Amino acid sequence: MTIAFSSEFRRLVVDNGLVVNEAIRPTREIAVDGYVVPGLRDAHFHPVTYAASLVVPSLKSARDFGEVADRIAGASSELAPGVPMSAIRLDDETLTEGRLPNRHDLDVMVGDRPLILHRYCGHIAMANTAALELAGVTSATPDPAGGTLDRDEQGEPTGVLREMGIEVVSLPLAEQSGPAVTDDQVVDAMYALASVGLTSIGGIVGCGDGPWADLGDQFSQLLRIADRLPINVRVLVIGQDPDQLRNAARRVEEVGSPRLTFLGVKIFGDGSLGGHTAAMHEPFADADTTGQLRFDAEASRPLAETALDLGGIVAIHAIGDRANAAVLDFFDDIVAGGGDPNRLRIEHASVLGPGEVATFARLGVTASVQPAFMASETEWLEKRVGSARLPQTYPLRTLLDAGVPLAGGSDCPVEPPHPLSGIAAARDRCGIVPAESLSAAEALSLFTTGAARALLEPEPLEIGSPADFVVLDVDPLAATPDQLRAANVLATYVGGELVEVPDGTVTWQE
Ligand SMILES: [Zn+2]
Repeated sequence: MTIAFSSEFRRLVVDNGLVVNEAIRPTREIAVDGYVVPGLRDAHFHPVTYAASLVVPSLKSARDFGEVADRIAGASSELAPGVPMSAIRLDDETLTEGRLPNRHDLDVMVGDRPLILHRYCGHIAMANTAALELAGVTSATPDPAGGTLDRDEQGEPTGVLREMGIEVVSLPLAEQSGPAVTDDQVVDAMYALASVGLTSIGGIVGCGDGPWADLGDQFSQLLRIADRLPINVRVLVIGQDPDQLRNAARRVEEVGSPRLTFLGVKIFGDGSLGGHTAAMHEPFADADTTGQLRFDAEASRPLAETALDLGGIVAIHAIGDRANAAVLDFFDDIVAGGGDPNRLRIEHASVLGPGEVATFARLGVTASVQPAFMASETEWLEKRVGSARLPQTYPLRTLLDAGVPLAGGSDCPVEPPHPLSGIAAARDRCGIVPAESLSAAEALSLFTTGAARALLEPEPLEIGSPADFVVLDVDPLAATPDQLRAANVLATYVGGELVEVPDGTVTWQE
């Protein structure tokens, strides 16, 4: 068998699952027919929601309400009467109707079965009348802290739920319906990730609360499958209080799986660009709002301190420039109090003015970025942020040149899990502000070295580090972005062992 290596890696010698120096150790040589690159890592991933995206109706490619209705009716016909159902990845930007469906639209589709439908960004959901009734939501229900329930002129809830408003309906639904995916389905999904070249993910999970509560206690589900994980899952818990984090860290340790580690806490700072809920300094270009700042420094401090005490990291979601400024302020305090900036991440870091970039660089806080967002946002991003802010949106080149550590991710199932597409998007930016492009090597390192650092893993393929690597049919440093999008992952090794992906494994449904 021939052995070809990428221009980066000439030889790979493995012993006991670790990369070793062949001169000093008895070794096993792995012969491959392709290009060896470090295992690809995704710093920001929702593993259980991804598994759900492979089994519940996924609506991103639906063209109009009629197609949404067809997919929902198909799935509904397989459920017992009255059992609540969830659907995900609705994108109103690409629907002919150009708006979110309301409760009445959904009632026509599914009758009196409770239904919750998540927008693809995860920050807006829609409920039908039966779901609102099951949750006890009426015109008298107040908006929860950090969220809203849209209302019509009569003050009646329209079924559109924003931010923490989602939980008002998703939580009672979860109690009724149980987990949306089985343990086996989550395991299958993790094999699917191995097949696209991922050897580790930063796995964000809720504990049965939060916006995707209707998908169940995702953390406990990961613990149950810990021994069956084919790849490494570094768990980021969406925690509400310090005890929950301490318990989570303890339970992960008790399970004792080499594939599952506690990574830290995930906190929300704002919403999304798509939903106009990202917190901006100036209003959006196409709506008279500056979004919703959800970040609460006082509530976040004990969570952050606990995560750091537990040896973990703090990952805070901030998309708008105003949210980023608020979180950077908070991190400034944490660093001043002795917190290690290498353990502080801002998730998305999407819109950043010069002030925010300078603070990122001064503190040394990691920007955890998702280049593949640009693939979904090409049609509307400029309309939303305006031409003046477009160059400040996903400013990867500016961040890198300022010395800000970057980690790559997909935020899957917001975007597909394929890391090679993310690497390609960091290079050609799907045409959005090409001046902010990264080189082939820089883009690759987002999903190797950069993400590994953000997951508290050793430098990939150094002597002594786990032999987590993949074999590609192209050299990622020589291929064009489009060749990379079309490339195949020939094999994925975790700890020096080949992951045997079952035939027929599905990796994505639009
Ligand atoms: Zn996310």
